[in-house]
Amino acid sequence: MKHVFGPVSSRRLGRSLGIDIVPYKLCSLNCVYCECGITTALTTSVREYASASEVCAEIDIALASSPELDVITFSGSGEPTLNSSIGTIIDHIKCRYPQYKVAVLTNSTLMNIDSVRRSILSADMIFPSLDAVSEEVFSAIMKPAAGVNPSDLIEGLIKLRAEYKGRMCLEIFIVPGFNDTPGELELLRDAALRIQPDEVHLNRLDRPGSESWVQPVGDELMLEISEFFKPLNVRVIGRKPGDVHIPYSGSDLRDRVLSALRSGCDNAESVAERLGVRVVDVIRICEKLSSEGLACRIPAEKGDLYRPV
Ligand code: SF4
Repeated sequence: MKHVFGPVSSRRLGRSLGIDIVPYKLCSLNCVYCECGITTALTTSVREYASASEVCAEIDIALASSPELDVITFSGSGEPTLNSSIGTIIDHIKCRYPQYKVAVLTNSTLMNIDSVRRSILSADMIFPSLDAVSEEVFSAIMKPAAGVNPSDLIEGLIKLRAEYKGRMCLEIFIVPGFNDTPGELELLRDAALRIQPDEVHLNRLDRPGSESWVQPVGDELMLEISEFFKPLNVRVIGRKPGDVHIPYSGSDLRDRVLSALRSGCDNAESVAERLGVRVVDVIRICEKLSSEGLACRIPAEKGDLYRPV
């Protein structure tokens, strides 16, 4: 399937069926820590990048056997609210499969647009991101599309909080040397107090980001920062203490997939396991490499193999 993946085991959400409704890697930001690689289509243009009927048909197939799931999550390899059909797709799930909870992971950049906020109000959980408040740090970490700025983003989140009745968890991704300074943390805490999310989730790198210089934050600093955000309801996200690791470095997931194929991995599962990324992303990249003549797909009994050319 093109738009539905998993179920995958999510650190925060449990057993999650993923819905990816924008092409790889279309986003309004190009975050230095992005686990999906460098943004190749940087845009704020809201369009029907994948049709609601096509995505809903895949969802119907995936849910036909009533799988055990904790949640159905809109996430993937780009910003899901850039797809103008997200509301229609959420409503399809809520109407036909009310037994499942729906979550939306968003980078918050479009929350100042009334129609975009309205389109996700029927989700059970929304996880919006806010990593910086000062223009300087915002630009350095998120490398936004033209027109995206932190003050509009924060105002959009304040409006979302006023309109949204479900659970809202504000995610702050800590990038050492940028948004862990006392000044930036204070700005972030003030913004979070204005937004009033149900929870603040502090996140950190635990897989390679799109920029190889981004490093994970140590446990001690994460705990210190979480204290700083009190009295907000703060939660540190991540692997178990001491378990943060970076298995490889590099600047682009595409290059990483290609070098994994060149070094002997011959199917999407083994590449995904080696890189610590999702199989669905690897398949998408392998298909792209095949269309560019850099790899070829070899059908095999137990699933397709990919070879570098
Ligand atoms: S982390 Fe999210 S918002 Fe940032 S570039 Fe990646 S997909 Fe876009």
